Amino acid sequence: MDMRLSFERTPLIHEILPVGLLQCNCSIFGDEQSREAIVVDPGDDISSIREILERHQLRVKAIVITHAHIDHIGGAAKLKALTGAPIYMNEDDQPLYDNIDQQAAWLGMRPPEQSSIDVAARDGDKLSLAGTEFHIIHTPGHTQGSLSLWIPAENKLVAGDTLFRDSIGRTDLPGGNYNQILRSIADKLLVLPDEAVVVPGHGPNTTIGRERAINPFLQDL
Ligand SMILES: [Zn+2]
Repeated sequence: MDMRLSFERTPLIHEILPVGLLQCNCSIFGDEQSREAIVVDPGDDISSIREILERHQLRVKAIVITHAHIDHIGGAAKLKALTGAPIYMNEDDQPLYDNIDQQAAWLGMRPPEQSSIDVAARDGDKLSLAGTEFHIIHTPGHTQGSLSLWIPAENKLVAGDTLFRDSIGRTDLPGGNYNQILRSIADKLLVLPDEAVVVPGHGPNTTIGRERAINPFLQDL
């Protein structure tokens, strides 16, 4: 038996589940000891998210929305009703959320249930999951209220639709701005360590170092 006291921190449970028609990456972070969880971007498929929460015996303490596009926020009201957890979102995306029926119509989907936003998430705010900090970084450009979540102890960035493997978020939708997304990425994301794992809003993970080196959109920064 190892009798040494250990100060090593147990890594968080982290499940990434592509949800809905557009396969948005929903992240479920959980703490092994307290069984508390933070769910990021529950766009759809709340029954699958619920299964994962139950499998790990997790209680959701916060629902964080990276931006108010329907594929990221569509299931938030349902998950809030199921768990009682508050919804965090940047207030600059409230106009997009207010227009969610129109977003649904563009995609030929039924409009989802809506909920009030409980907490205005702002640049520099921190959430804690049993002592592990989640830093809110405001990265406007894909939408005006787009957020990224930086978790230093896990060396992970949840990037929403701001940064992808080999790409960046589109800026041709309402609220999008190409120069602004490039500035957000250059000033707020590429300053993170090379080894930081990036979990984008869609598609496979990458790292800050890889995207700095070869992402074709970032080579002139
Ligand atoms: Zn989006």
